[in-house]
Amino acid sequence: MADATYQFGWHKFTLALPEPWEPGRIEGDDVKGYARIDDGFMPRLELKWDRAYGDDACDEAFRRYMKELTRAAGKGGAAQATRREPKEFDLGVRLPEGMRYRTVRWSAAVDCVAATVACSRCNRVAGLQILFPEGQMQTSLARRILESFRDHPESPDAPAWWGIYKMRFQTPVRWRLVAHRFGPGYAEMNFAGPGGVLADFKRMGPAEVLLKKRDLVDWYLAQLPQHVKVPREAVERSEVRGDVVLAATRQPRGLAAFLRRRGKDEVARRALCLQSVAWHCPRSNRLWAVEVYAPTLEAAREGQWQVFCHDEAVTP
Ligand SMILES: [Zn+2]
Ligand SMILES: [Zn+2]
Repeated sequence: MADATYQFGWHKFTLALPEPWEPGRIEGDDVKGYARIDDGFMPRLELKWDRAYGDDACDEAFRRYMKELTRAAGKGGAAQATRREPKEFDLGVRLPEGMRYRTVRWSAAVDCVAATVACSRCNRVAGLQILFPEGQMQTSLARRILESFRDHPESPDAPAWWGIYKMRFQTPVRWRLVAHRFGPGYAEMNFAGPGGVLADFKRMGPAEVLLKKRDLVDWYLAQLPQHVKVPREAVERSEVRGDVVLAATRQPRGLAAFLRRRGKDEVARRALCLQSVAWHCPRSNRLWAVEVYAPTLEAAREGQWQVFCHDEAVTP
């Protein structure tokens, strides 16, 4: 039986991947970067991206990739004995207008289906290597993965999808990921949007350990950044599809100092507001917090986001 899949999302790249596949290495930003995705035993997918302009961006990237392959083969070693010549072939995948791709397969110590994809709308080129244990190439899986590959949301104002290490959420498409931290029990992603908006998405767990006998409000106030003081009476409690949700919207004391510390001087000088939502998701046994900082409350509320902490979404 095929593995269940999830929607991987990173810098507007989205891909349907088997559930156990998660990044083992991730670097760069929305312009240029690299992600290696492993299945727990071996690397299964490598994704590299960079800026590229023009109609021949795909062919050019493909030529470059083929040249690198030949050079690697020339260096030989044990892998060369089993190497099957790189062979361009048609995977028969249809990608949306503006996205062009070329595919090649090769075998060495692993089997690989590689694709270069260029998008004239984003002016980006991506290189994918889908890897299989030697002799176990599954073209159907490679086809499914490439078919699901997108490098921009469907319409210009559709939200961007983020799906990594069980962080699954949508942000306005113009928010840029500026920093992230992933560790056992803690994940945080920080965004900057137009108009001086900053947004932090945090996931912590396991919830029962973090909460112990503590009330959710105590935990929420304690997890806010040190210099952001929200009075207890400003916190409202509600329920969204079984998750207990806390929300606070105001101009907290100390916010300017906190933002200056984060090097956001120009933002800190303006009137600043915080809209924050935190909740306990018993079904995933996780605690979530989203903090949106903006010059005005309207601007903070405008940034539409949605978090899928379990199968259903929590919205502000
Ligand atoms: Zn694109
Ligand atoms: Zn939930």
